[in-house]
Amino acid sequence: MEISLHWLWCLFVWWRQDAIHAYVNMHYLYPLWLGISVMGLFFLCMVKYLPHSGSRRDILDRWQIALVLTYTFYIATIIVVIGYSSLFAGVSLVGGAMLGMMLIKRRYAWRMFWLQIILMLLAITSPYFGITLPNLRQLTVIHPLLETHNYLTYNEIMAVENAVAASAFENNVLSWDSITEIQRSSAFFWRSTHLYLAFPKAIFIVYIFRALLLVLDDSRQETLRHANQDELTQLKNRRYGLKKMKYALSTVQDNQDLSVMLFDLDWFKRINDNYGHDVGDQVLIEISQTLLQSLSDETIISRYGGEEFLVVLPDTSHDSAMVIAEQLRLSIAEHIINIGDVFDFSVTASFGLYTLTHQERACIAKNYKSILAKKAQSQSSASPLIKPIATQRAESQMAFMQKLPGDICQRLISTADKALYEAKHRGRNQVVSANHMFAEKNGSIHSLYKNR
Ligand code: GH3
Ligand code: MG
Ligand code: MG
Repeated sequence: MEISLHWLWCLFVWWRQDAIHAYVNMHYLYPLWLGISVMGLFFLCMVKYLPHSGSRRDILDRWQIALVLTYTFYIATIIVVIGYSSLFAGVSLVGGAMLGMMLIKRRYAWRMFWLQIILMLLAITSPYFGITLPNLRQLTVIHPLLETHNYLTYNEIMAVENAVAASAFENNVLSWDSITEIQRSSAFFWRSTHLYLAFPKAIFIVYIFRALLLVLDDSRQETLRHANQDELTQLKNRRYGLKKMKYALSTVQDNQDLSVMLFDLDWFKRINDNYGHDVGDQVLIEISQTLLQSLSDETIISRYGGEEFLVVLPDTSHDSAMVIAEQLRLSIAEHIINIGDVFDFSVTASFGLYTLTHQERACIAKNYKSILAKKAQSQSSASPLIKPIATQRAESQMAFMQKLPGDICQRLISTADKALYEAKHRGRNQVVSANHMFAEKNGSIHSLYKNR
């Protein structure tokens, strides 16, 4: 929108050039107009392209940098060529940086803010180093006479004109030297306004805004941590575990298996009853530590219920998961819990394991796809007007849900839970595979979806 307005401004100047050509240097207008047009097309492409980059963070980051860098140079150029007023510079600097910090990566917006400050400082001080930057403003009366001060801003020129008029009226005597003096004084004050008032204020406002956002970020992180973590064991809680499991299922590769393990401490109620709740709590904390130490970082570990834990192993075959579960069972059983110096004991756990193989996942997805297609078809035959919407919804559902039913996590967990129940039934302190149970009964989790 900003670029379109700049473009329309150029159009207006070009259209009204007969009336304003005395104030506008038309030689600079055309390249500026062309530059604005190119920039407009660039941003239009970005608007079209960026939403399709989806969740690819690396692509998004690259384009964000390209966007803010281009925009920073664009704004700096516009400010120099059209003329830097404190208001324009202030709004661009402060507003742009604040918006940027809320919309894109804060780091990028903060760095670009500083780049813009540096560019504008360079533009302001360039005439003192004998560099004349292109400027659209053309003042036919004063400009050719005062060759050394052709970088004056509108406000400066106004001050000079007022002084000239006042002097001419009051004294009736006027020399170019006195005008140069007035100019120097005027230029000093106007530049001072930019350098010593506007910039520090802009930097302060943006800095404080950034600090506030960082504080908000911290409190958001803290809230999230509390929402996702179990207070007692410091493990992730059930909600987070399920969320992560869902994500793992949606990102699992075509040829990868995913294993789910549910385990429950044996006779835990007795520990509470015999030694008290505090000891029970300590057991839960220590078992959680054992869990964290025994499993890799990629494993999704959460406290599923009271003394029940959910472990999701992405990209893990059934055989590997069985080995991991067996090792974990041994680690728990061998872990000695010390209660002060008085006594120590150990606990055991029963495990239920289920591995969703990639072949099975493909079958479920295929089945689900046909269910969705049938649903869409029946909706479309009910009313021809609904057809496109129903089909679209079904298609988007299939695309975003990775073609798996919404209750797949619960299904996998309850399958593992059946195996856990069996482990308890068989005498506790052991691992039972639901896949083996299914094989014995000639079934699979896939069959659960067939009968829906
Ligand atoms: P089983 O081998 O069949 O699993 O027997 P169990 O005694 O472990 O099973 P049960 O479900 O009967 O007992 C679970 C107990 O866990 C009941 C509850 O008091 C206790 N519990 C649940 N959460 C906590 C907790 O945060 N701290 C303590 N100390 N105990 C808890
Ligand atoms: Mg138990
Ligand atoms: Mg239990």
